[in-house]
Amino acid sequence: MGGAPPPPPDPPGPPGPHPRLPSPLQRVEDDRFGRHGVELSLKRDDLIHPDLPGNKYRKLVLNLRSAADTGHDTLLTFGGAYSNHLRATAAAGRLLGLATVGVVRGDELAGRPLNPSLARCAADGMRLHFVDRSTYREKAEPATLAALLRETGCRDAYVIPEGGSNPLAVRGCTALGEELREHTDVAAVACGTGGTLAAGLGPDRRALGVPVLKGGFLGEDIAALQRRTFGEPTANWRLDERFHWGGYARTPPELLAFAEDFEHRHGDATGLSVERLYVAKLLYALTVLSEEGAFRPGTRLTAVITGTREPSE
Ligand SMILES: *Cc1c(COP(=O)(O)O)cnc(C)c1O
Repeated sequence: MGGAPPPPPDPPGPPGPHPRLPSPLQRVEDDRFGRHGVELSLKRDDLIHPDLPGNKYRKLVLNLRSAADTGHDTLLTFGGAYSNHLRATAAAGRLLGLATVGVVRGDELAGRPLNPSLARCAADGMRLHFVDRSTYREKAEPATLAALLRETGCRDAYVIPEGGSNPLAVRGCTALGEELREHTDVAAVACGTGGTLAAGLGPDRRALGVPVLKGGFLGEDIAALQRRTFGEPTANWRLDERFHWGGYARTPPELLAFAEDFEHRHGDATGLSVERLYVAKLLYALTVLSEEGAFRPGTRLTAVITGTREPSE
């Protein structure tokens, strides 16, 4: 684990419980890594903040500051019916006293009872606006976005893209790379929109992304996000696209059994409960890669624990 890094300056953030930064880094003993000479650590971003856990805190923090600096009183963002980003944005709005509007994919959901994730958003004061899938797909087109802002009556909202991934989010995630700098050779993260991986997790080490969606365009999206943030893409990351298990929120029994087993092995020492949609796929991928000999002996490998398990999962 190495010496404790010096505490960073107080990050800008919502009031209420202080964010726990840098997040803890826990070394775990696991034979699937140890027998290949690989040192596995868990970067516990899930412990950063009870309401804005994981990479959602890092991705939102500079956007929230920018919204406040530019005098906005409403945040508008996008997500699917189980989006962690929507939940985090709703919680941030409550903590900061900002109105929030969530544009939700799927007009068939309108008028139905809310699932637990959307119910939490609503309880935090988020106004939910359901749109059909083709509108949702085109939400970033200027005409579609203008229409959405008009329909929701918030022309002046601060707009955060789906998954929160914009250049300010990427900049927010560079702090993760800085926290890992002296402790890690390879940092690995599960990817949705790829905003967290786009931070590069530091120029002087390798970053590995495990997409949890079936798609194939993520590499281009990440390069584009890096271009918008840093002026050019960095070359220190790669994706392994083999571990989506059929797509977003697909969690076959074998994956769930793996997650449970991981908790049995390491839960007592770490208190970790494995989030199933992203973190389980990441940890599974790393055990396979380790057994394949993908990491040189002596590699310090860090799995970024990007979120917490919800009771409803
Ligand atoms: C949102 C989320 C991710 C994906 O982050 P991206 O920056 O969109 O790639 C990973 N893990 C968890 C738990 C998340 O909630």
